[in-house]
Amino acid sequence: MAILGYPDVMKLWGVSRRELDQIVQSVSKEAYGGNIVFNKLEVSNCLTFTLRVVCSKKVGASISPSGRRSTSLCWHGHRDVMWELFHRFPEARLKSWDADYHGVAEFLLTHATTGEAIPFSSLALTRRNKWCECGKTEQSSIKFIS
Ligand SMILES: [Zn+2]
Repeated sequence: MAILGYPDVMKLWGVSRRELDQIVQSVSKEAYGGNIVFNKLEVSNCLTFTLRVVCSKKVGASISPSGRRSTSLCWHGHRDVMWELFHRFPEARLKSWDADYHGVAEFLLTHATTGEAIPFSSLALTRRNKWCECGKTEQSSIKFIS
């Protein structure tokens, strides 16, 4: 489990590989200057994937509390990909290390908490949604592309 930001493995049901590819590409192009790419994508009974950025100096890169930049995609980037995904596929299920969304309603209602501090850890005073300089806010910058 990657506590420090990402890559976090996500498992997805109800969406094809091609559809997920289109979602990631459009969110990347629309709001992250094309910086978001797949780190890994495996197809089995579900899609197992991680995301990262191409350039750690550009939008969407994570910055650790100690100030180290990485090619891990920040919280907002993950959120925006999921946002578009659940818009296009409201029945999809997406499971990550700290959430398991069964459809769009659960995602919209609960996803913000994953940006909060991680309790009972040395990082309890930090917030995952602050570990970047992407400039995105609590609200998704994605206005449902499709
Ligand atoms: Zn961010």
